[in-house]
Amino acid sequence: MEIANLISGPIQNNVYIVYDESNECIIIDAAFGCCDALLQFINDKNLILKYILLTHGHWDHIGDLAKLKRATNVPIVIHRADEYRLQIPEDMGFKIEPTHADILLNGGETLQFGNTKFKVVFTPGHTEGGVCYIFEKEKIIFSGDTLFNGSIGRTDFDGGDFNTLIKSIKEKLFILSDDYCIYTGHGEPTSLKDEKLYNPYLT
Ligand SMILES: [Zn+2]
Ligand SMILES: [Zn+2]
Repeated sequence: MEIANLISGPIQNNVYIVYDESNECIIIDAAFGCCDALLQFINDKNLILKYILLTHGHWDHIGDLAKLKRATNVPIVIHRADEYRLQIPEDMGFKIEPTHADILLNGGETLQFGNTKFKVVFTPGHTEGGVCYIFEKEKIIFSGDTLFNGSIGRTDFDGGDFNTLIKSIKEKLFILSDDYCIYTGHGEPTSLKDEKLYNPYLT
């Protein structure tokens, strides 16, 4: 499995393309300005896009979502508790085109592209409907804004709750083995081992 990372948008969001030897791929999050580069990458590598997955519905993760949907007509996937954020995007001074999801998650699902399976884990706290995507065989977590390298997502926005977020991380992520690599919604990747040992919010 391969992971390509594009940093995009006014607050440096990580947008990921994940693909395997079958040439099927998924996109994780759709920040402002990512669409053209993603389509170019998919085209250059002859990839077939299966899903557009969102870790949550904040404005910075969905800026190019409607454009990407129009260009690909691939299903948009988000937790059901964050779907309203696509229909009525936040007004942060950036114009975000409303859209809607095609697949609503509850958490606990196993999804697949090509020969690769991954799990949806419901991790509310940063928003009501935050999820992480977990690749057990490859030992990889896409954490969105739930967990960062040395930090955690903000909980002072609408729908955020600090205690819920800590509980999500401890009960849903920290139960996994130390050797997981974490690809975050912003900033550098990290490991579960380092976050268990050094994250000041969680030690
Ligand atoms: Zn966020
Ligand atoms: Zn974010």
